[in-house]
Amino acid sequence: CGIFGAIGMPDAANFVALGLHALQHRGQEAGGIVSYQPEPGFSSVRRFGYVRDNFTNPSVMAQLPGKIACGHVRYSTSGSKGAAIRDVQPLFAEFAMGGCAIAHNGNLTNADALKESLIERGSIFQSSSDTECIIHLMARSMARSIPERMKDALRLVEGAFSVIAMTRTKLIGVRDPRGVRPLMLGKVGEKGWVLASETCALDIIGAEYVREIEPGEMVICTEGGIESSHPFDKAKPKFCVFEHVYFSRPDSMIGGRSVYETRRQIGVELAREAPVDADLVCPVPDSGTPAAIGYSQESGIPYAMGIIRNQYMGRTFIEPTTEIRNMGVRLKLNVNRALIRGKRVILVDDSVVRGTTSRKIKEMILDAGAAEVHFRIASPPTQWPCFYGVDTPDRENLLAATMTEDQMCAHLGVDSLKFISLDGLYRATGEKGRAKEPQYCDACFSGDYPVKPSDMVAKGRIK
Ligand code: 5GP
Ligand code: SF4
Ligand code: MG
Repeated sequence: CGIFGAIGMPDAANFVALGLHALQHRGQEAGGIVSYQPEPGFSSVRRFGYVRDNFTNPSVMAQLPGKIACGHVRYSTSGSKGAAIRDVQPLFAEFAMGGCAIAHNGNLTNADALKESLIERGSIFQSSSDTECIIHLMARSMARSIPERMKDALRLVEGAFSVIAMTRTKLIGVRDPRGVRPLMLGKVGEKGWVLASETCALDIIGAEYVREIEPGEMVICTEGGIESSHPFDKAKPKFCVFEHVYFSRPDSMIGGRSVYETRRQIGVELAREAPVDADLVCPVPDSGTPAAIGYSQESGIPYAMGIIRNQYMGRTFIEPTTEIRNMGVRLKLNVNRALIRGKRVILVDDSVVRGTTSRKIKEMILDAGAAEVHFRIASPPTQWPCFYGVDTPDRENLLAATMTEDQMCAHLGVDSLKFISLDGLYRATGEKGRAKEPQYCDACFSGDYPVKPSDMVAKGRIK
C-alpha cells in the first residue's frame, strides 16, 4: 500500500491526492482521504479505483477541506480480497480526546490472535482489515493523548507497519521497530510537513526531502514543528529488500540511494553471474527495465524493446484473481515482432512468482519467431510467502518452492533460466554481501522471517 499525509497547508487534501497519485503503483484497488477543519470536523472519502478517477473531481475534493489530511492507496494483503469499501483506509475512530484517522502500509502478523481476544473482550470490528486492531487497542489504552494511545497499541502488534495517523492538530508517522516498510518526511514552505511512503510522492508536490523516519521512530508533526520519540524496544533494521527490486518506484530514493541505480546494478551483477551469448537484451516492462539496462551495459549485448507495454494497463499482479491476472498479461504486453524474429533474446524480469508472466511471455516471444529465449531474473527464486505487506501466494503456488531451477527452466520451456544470487542482490544495494545477520528482510527468498508470522503458524500455513 501507499500512504501520504500533509499538515500546515491550505487544502491539504489536494496535496494528499497528488501524493497518492505518485504512489499509485503501491496499490490500485482503492483509495481514501480523510481531512480535518474545525467546521465541519473530520471528513472522509473512500472509493474503489484509481486516485485520478476519484480525487481529481472538484466536487469530491470540496468535501475534504482543511489544513490537515492523510490518505491511503490499497493493495490487499490481509482482510477480504477485492470489493469491500469498509476495508478501504484511512480508518477513522472517535476517542474521548477527539477523532483519529489511520493509514497503514504493511501487515500485522498477530492480527488474528489480537482480533480474537479483542472480540472476546467486547470490541466490535467493522472491517476485515488487520489495521483495525490498532484502533481497538487504542480504545483500550488508558493513556490521555492519542499519540500515547497509539504507542500503547503499537507495542502490542507484531509484523510490519508504517503508519500515518492524524488528529485535529497533529500528523503522526510511525515505523515498526525493524522498519520493514518505508516512510519519508518532507517539508513544504515554513510550516508545512508531509509524510509519504516514497520520495517520488514528495517530488510531485515539490516538497523538500528532509529524511526517512527511522525504524522504531514516531514523529509528531504540528504547525509548530516536529517531535520525535522511539517508543519500542530496539530491533535490528530489516527493510524489505523487495522494495529495491520491485515495489518502489525507480525514481524514489531509499537510504540515500536511487532505486533505479540499485536495479541497474542488479542487472550488472546478473550479467556477471549468469552470462549468455545472445543478440538482444529485452526487459519485461516496466519492472524489468532498469535491470535489463544494467545487463546490457555490462555484457555489451544491445538493449532493445522487444516487448511493448500498453501504458493504459495497471500492474497485472496486483489484480486479485488468477483469471484477471491471466487476462491481464495479454492485455498489457505485446511482442515487437519485427525486432524479435530470428534473434537470440535475453529477457530480464524482476521476479518469478507463480510463473504466469514468464510462461505467457515466452510463448509470445517464440510465436514471434525468436531463435532462443533466455530468462534472467533480477531477484532470487521466490520460495516463501511474504507476511509483511506484499501479496505472495501460499508456498504451493510459488514455482520456486516446488521446483529446482532446472525444473523451472523445463516448465517454462526456455533455453536457460538464471536468478541473481542473494549475495549479488545485496551487492547491488551497496552492501558487501549478505551478512550473518542479514541487513534486510529477504524472507521470501531465504525463509528467514525476521518476525515470526504467528497467525500463519497457528493456522498451519507455515512451520
Ligand atoms: P508471476 O507471473 O510469476 O506470478 O509474477 C511475476 C510478475 O509479477 C513479475 O513480472 C512482477 O513484475 C510482477 N509483480 C507484481 N506485483 C508483484 C508482487 O507483489 N510480488 C511479486 N513478486 N511480483 C509482482
Ligand atoms: Fe519484502 Fe520479501 Fe520480506 Fe516480504 S518477505 S518484507 S517482500 S523481503
Ligand atoms: Mg513485471
